[in-house]
Amino acid sequence: MQVFEKATALSGHVDKIKTDGYTVGFVPTMGSLHAGHLSLVAHALSQNSHCIVSIFVNPTQFNNADDLSSYPRDVEGDLKLLEQAGCHSVFVPSVEEVYPSEVKSSSMDLKGIDKPMEGKYRPGHFEGVATVVSRLFNIVKPTRAYFGEKDYQQLMVIRQMVKNENFDIEIIGHPIERNDAGLALSSRNQLLSPAERDTASIIWQNLDWARHNYKNLSPRELQAQLSQNLSNNGLRVEYVNAVNEENLREIEDWPQANHARLFVAAYLGGVRLIDNVSLF
Ligand code: AMP
Repeated sequence: MQVFEKATALSGHVDKIKTDGYTVGFVPTMGSLHAGHLSLVAHALSQNSHCIVSIFVNPTQFNNADDLSSYPRDVEGDLKLLEQAGCHSVFVPSVEEVYPSEVKSSSMDLKGIDKPMEGKYRPGHFEGVATVVSRLFNIVKPTRAYFGEKDYQQLMVIRQMVKNENFDIEIIGHPIERNDAGLALSSRNQLLSPAERDTASIIWQNLDWARHNYKNLSPRELQAQLSQNLSNNGLRVEYVNAVNEENLREIEDWPQANHARLFVAAYLGGVRLIDNVSLF
């Protein structure tokens, strides 16, 4: 496994791989890797001859300085896991390498996909995400790139950015990996105490209940019910939203949408957790 810190070195390496006729699967991450990330790596390896992972905690997508400074980091551990997983190349750039002139997001028309839910509670977050992924795509120029449905809104933002910028890259979504209790795997879970980690599985219990029972309630009633259940268990809910999967707009009645998805964001202690599930 090769580790690259410089964009020009990685770009040159990828050019060579691609002229040799190989395909490149790319998995952008912020490190502190867990089985969720590794399932994206396995997916990339199954569809491409070469897998590249980036590890970069992107400052422009954090709207809160404390959140950025407390974000867990373990590059050494990550490299070991990636080597074991059979990853071919890892890109570990400095902030200056990704943002040579100014550490700032580019403005982008994301067609409103960036506005609800995460966009509402984390202003500027998606412009930061779209900016860094666009820069990484220009450096890596992969054949395919892999994103988890855990960050479903992010996956949609990336698809929109790729359309805007005409990248010839196939964007592939990957289902959410969970622990045995249903908690969606996340780098932030290590900031939870063992007791909090147990409590946090209440999020999946509610989403799982919702996907089997949503028809008995209106979208608004479902949102209120889940919000109440989560608050009763000590979570501070930011949103519970049942939305049209195509445009992420809230729905008043189920027949309004061909496909609906339910999203949750809530704090447990100081840790912000997100999750979602397809309803139909
Ligand atoms: P992050 O390091 O949190 O930026 O995540 C890097 C990629 O891994 C993103 O595409 C995430 O959606 C994906 N990811 C994170 N956690 C999970 C999970 N539990 N299941 C599937 N994908 C995940």
